[in-house]
Parts: sequence; C-alpha cells; structure tokens
Amino acid sequence: MDVVLPEEVRERVREARRVVAFSGAGVSKESGLDTFRGAGGLWEQMRPEEMATPQAFRADPAKVWQWYAWRWKTGSGAQPNPAHRALVRLEAVFPSFTLVTQNVDGLHARAGSRNLLELHGTILRAHCNRCGRSRDMGEAIAESPEEPPVCSCGGRFRPSVVWFGETLPEEVLFRASQEASSCEVFLSVGTSSTVYPAAGLIELAHQAGACLIEVNPEPTPFSGRMDLRLAAPAGEAVPALVDAMERCR
Ligand SMILES: [Zn+2]
Repeated sequence: MDVVLPEEVRERVREARRVVAFSGAGVSKESGLDTFRGAGGLWEQMRPEEMATPQAFRADPAKVWQWYAWRWKTGSGAQPNPAHRALVRLEAVFPSFTLVTQNVDGLHARAGSRNLLELHGTILRAHCNRCGRSRDMGEAIAESPEEPPVCSCGGRFRPSVVWFGETLPEEVLFRASQEASSCEVFLSVGTSSTVYPAAGLIELAHQAGACLIEVNPEPTPFSGRMDLRLAAPAGEAVPALVDAMERCR
C-alpha cells in the first residue's frame, strides 16, 4: 500500500511539533488479539463482562485470576505487527509524540513505544488491591497460577487493567487530554471512536484545530471531520502512512 498525503496534510505534518496517535482494538487485530478469544478452550466461553469487574474478583478471585493468566499467556504468544512497529518510528519523527491506547495487551510497549499512555491499563502488570504495589504479571502468575498472590500487606494482586465499572486512571487520562488538546496532528488508528474517552480525545484535538487522520476499515462518527481517512486495516495502512509522514519531514 502507498499513501499520498494531500498537500494540506503534508504541510501540517511537515510543520508539526506535537503529534498524538490514538489506538484501539483494530491495531491488535492483526496480531490475533481482536477479541478476548483466540487460543481455544474452556475460557473462550467466558464473557468479559462477567470476569472483568471488581464484583467478579471479590466473589471469586481465583477464577478471575485464572482467566487473566490465560489471557496473559495468549497475549504473550502474540507478536507486535507492522502497525505497532510503525508507530514506534513516529517517536523519532516529531519533537513530541505521544501514543494513547485503549488496548491492554501490552503490544505497543513490547514493540518499543516509550511515550505511551495506556488508558485502560496493561495486562503485563499486576498491583496489590490494598497498597497498590506493582509487579510483573508474568512473575505473579508463575508464582501463583491458580489464585492471586497475596501481598506482604495482606492484600491481593490483581491485573493492572481497568475493569468494567471502574474509572480510568486519572493521571493518565489527564495527560492524554492535555496532549490531545495541544497537538497539531492527531492520528486515530483502529478504533471505532464511539465510546468515551475515545470520542472525547478526538473532540479535543478537533477543537484545538489539529489535522485529523483516521485509519479504520469502517467509517466512524468522526470520519466526516477527518483531513485524511484511510479505509484499510492498520497493519497495511499505518506503515505506509508513517513512510509518507517521514518523507515530508
Ligand atoms: Zn499490598
């Protein structure tokens, strides 16, 4: 795939100092992680809404822990795809580049993205539900695969993801909002942009007068406001788009 930037977009990209990319499930899709399912087996039948809640963890911590151990294992077998890798390159193109993601699979971090804001947390970490101590999820699972390990404070470790009914981490959301409202180019990738805060961040960038670029096979509620829209899977379109952005710098 080859991407030719319209002249207006090319100018904005050429002069941009602050750029934000915002990614959703569509980016993980080509790594085989578009849904919670994929590895086969009993756990596939579990609905996220039943497991990814504080209530479920209180009622049956072992069951929720085992489900996340399964998801962690599935995720660690997946590899970052060309879209993840291309987004890493943008950090070297602009003086300020921030990647905001809704994905919890940790693939952006594994691909090498550093200026990364994980709005919904990450499955690569666990933290104590009492004192907040943070640790590596893989190590926590290895130590205690059947039930959440007990912290030295007496609390229980849980995956560091945002569950249904929980609020997004305030500091992360604040920083994402700040970046969105001060960026000059905003790139939305693989997200349907229908739920907040996704919709809110695009709105902020739009209000700030940013050049808006969207990569998504399906149209989104914001498609009409885009300066450039690429109706293609992220794995194809993002590397081509990043090539084009690099060329005009
Ligand atoms: Zn603790």
